[in-house]
Amino acid sequence: MDDRIIILIFDGIGDRPVKELDGKTPLEAANTPNLDKYSEEGINGIMDTIAPGVVPGSDTGHLALLGYDPYKVYTGRGPFEASGIGMKLKSGEVAFRCNFGTIEDKIVVDRRAGRIKKGTDSLAEAINEMDFDIDFVFQESVEHRAVLLFKDPSLGPFVSDVDPHEEGLPLKKSKANREETSSQLTAEHLNRFTEKSIEILSEHPINIERKERGLPPANVILSRGAGAVPEMGKLEEMKGLKSAAIAGIPLVKGVCELAGMDIVQVEGATGGLDTDIEAIMNGIVDNINNYDLMIVNIKGPDLPGHDGDHMGKIEFIERIDSSLPILENIENTYFAFTGDHSTPVTVKNHSGDPLPLIIKGEEVRVDAVDSYGERSCATGGLGRIRGSDLLNVLMDLAKRAEKFGA
Ligand code: ZN
Ligand code: ZN
Repeated sequence: MDDRIIILIFDGIGDRPVKELDGKTPLEAANTPNLDKYSEEGINGIMDTIAPGVVPGSDTGHLALLGYDPYKVYTGRGPFEASGIGMKLKSGEVAFRCNFGTIEDKIVVDRRAGRIKKGTDSLAEAINEMDFDIDFVFQESVEHRAVLLFKDPSLGPFVSDVDPHEEGLPLKKSKANREETSSQLTAEHLNRFTEKSIEILSEHPINIERKERGLPPANVILSRGAGAVPEMGKLEEMKGLKSAAIAGIPLVKGVCELAGMDIVQVEGATGGLDTDIEAIMNGIVDNINNYDLMIVNIKGPDLPGHDGDHMGKIEFIERIDSSLPILENIENTYFAFTGDHSTPVTVKNHSGDPLPLIIKGEEVRVDAVDSYGERSCATGGLGRIRGSDLLNVLMDLAKRAEKFGA
């Protein structure tokens, strides 16, 4: 039997030297005996997820790691969010990420409608009954979040947001970012949809009740992140790998789902700092026998990165490390341990700094690296690769690569 492949993606794990850590990165400062052991037993390197200096999103980063060219398939985040919450999509449809927000005298006063928790299903139902001149589907997600899908095939994805992204400002008018009729049409439809959402939601009993209780009404749909559903091709057809993903956040689930992967649901995997890492590891153990490839995203390290919290990042990395032994009985498998992008605590956002990478498995050319860190891995035998190379390298090791040429 050919060997299997497991890629663990520690979201946002890469970092920069931190003054308070005597110039170490959070990963270098963290106590990670298991990852250090894997470095010692494996081959190490660093990886530019998309290209050197290009700052990946979690969506474009995962696309690259799966071997897709994000510059070809990515026009915006909307379709991946839509897919991640289970919407059925056809290529060419245009999807938006949305929030339920609160608007008062034409000013957006709360972009999350008080982080509304209940009743968005009824509000979405009312929106879907809207008399509108193109086919659309609107679906609520967690709390104030939702997705809007314009199903008309004549529409283009290159339009600006109606969401002002800041409270105390009026709604923006969506405009086409390119001179093409298809995107101009989308902008017009979106502006009309937004006006109509205000009319419908303002009179909805749930909002009348919210006002009576002193809560901000969810009386506008704020849309952003327009993107066209891409024609991606399935991973299984392209690489011949039966594959599955475990991911806490809809965005990453959506990328994997559009790649045709199975999504393994793990109870307790939240995508937050409260996520149950052991349950995720057990999810791998329970499912790996059914697949050639599993991709597992652990969102945690990205969050303290955005918050500039180096201690929080260290703690979460140590929690990951201590649950890794759960995987140790998995045989005939090549493991990769890496990230989708750096989220340095000094930047409080993603950066283009390359990621540390270990590949561990039976026949790797073990190198001299003996600890898992941004700088130690840079001296390893894999050198510096790109995200789109990773799956090829792993498939080659697992004797699953096809010869190019005779
Ligand atoms: Zn990410
Ligand atoms: Zn992030």
